[in-house]
Amino acid sequence: MIYPWQHDDWHKLQTLRTSWPHALLFHGLAGTGKVDFARHLAQGLLCEAPAADGQPCGHCVACTWFSQGNHPDFRVVCPESMAAENPGGGGAAGPADSAADADDGKEGGKKTKTLSKEIKIEQVRALLDFCALGAHRGGARVVLLYPAEALNTAASNALLKTLEEPTAGVCFLLVTQRIDRLLPTVISRCRQWPLATPEPAAARRWLVEQGIEGGDKQAAQTLAEAGGAPLAALAIARDAEHATLRRFTLGQLAAGVGCDAFACGETLQKTAVPLVLGWMQRWLYDLSAQQNAGRPRYFPDAGKALERCANAVEPTALATFWRTVVNQRAVENHPLNTRLVFESLFAGYRKLFDTE
Ligand SMILES: [Zn+2]
Repeated sequence: MIYPWQHDDWHKLQTLRTSWPHALLFHGLAGTGKVDFARHLAQGLLCEAPAADGQPCGHCVACTWFSQGNHPDFRVVCPESMAAENPGGGGAAGPADSAADADDGKEGGKKTKTLSKEIKIEQVRALLDFCALGAHRGGARVVLLYPAEALNTAASNALLKTLEEPTAGVCFLLVTQRIDRLLPTVISRCRQWPLATPEPAAARRWLVEQGIEGGDKQAAQTLAEAGGAPLAALAIARDAEHATLRRFTLGQLAAGVGCDAFACGETLQKTAVPLVLGWMQRWLYDLSAQQNAGRPRYFPDAGKALERCANAVEPTALATFWRTVVNQRAVENHPLNTRLVFESLFAGYRKLFDTE
């Protein structure tokens, strides 16, 4: 299935049908459903009775195999870590797993070792056999590869060879959210297709339809937190642990001079640094917005606490601390010690209120 904000892209894409490209590269914002779109397209290309607009029929032999994850003319290539996350997930597990297992067997005990986050050369080499064989059903063969930025250098070069000497009837669908990380030579071998980012209203409507608690207002807030990406927003809304940590963090920020930096370090030490920095940055933004315009943007629910904190903080001190947080964001993926990072940040925040 495709999402409501993808219908335009779907219809525009059908204009390529007369001369379908050997490789398509979909790119766009994370958390907007790009892989689902590409998967639906793959099903449409394999379907034996597609609708006039290219939609798969959903009940032919090909569609049945596809939805069971065992269409012989379809391959999924993704990092082991992702294949493990969705076992049996609509075709992701079968073929992708067998490719991943191939270079895994010698070590055995797969569960005890860390699963790779890269797409490895063995996985791309396994595609050569797939390309060399004829189609089982006499139709198209489709390879879905994501996220393309996970291709390591050796795998990229191997893929490049395959893309340079296209096999008739094989269609590559590549998906990436970081097109800047792909080899330019890989990009140039593909037809690029930027997938639309949903309009905020459409994204909110969809979130409400998914049954997100708190209706449109909560949908807007979670969507803001997810940077406008609806699938990411839904994941946040459904993650109870996330909600607890978020409530804790906002409570500490709202406490102003009562913020307990050690408790923050202790409670948040296993939380992703970018997530906590994101909450803090939005909170600081709202403090500044409160001081300047009297109206917060991200946390309207915390209006009273924001007003109290904004009145207690010097605007220049706030600006200085803001720069500290921004600098921390630059190294957020390589923190030496998460606990110490959080302790020092929240101590810095508390100091804004300590004007002794
Ligand atoms: Zn079908």
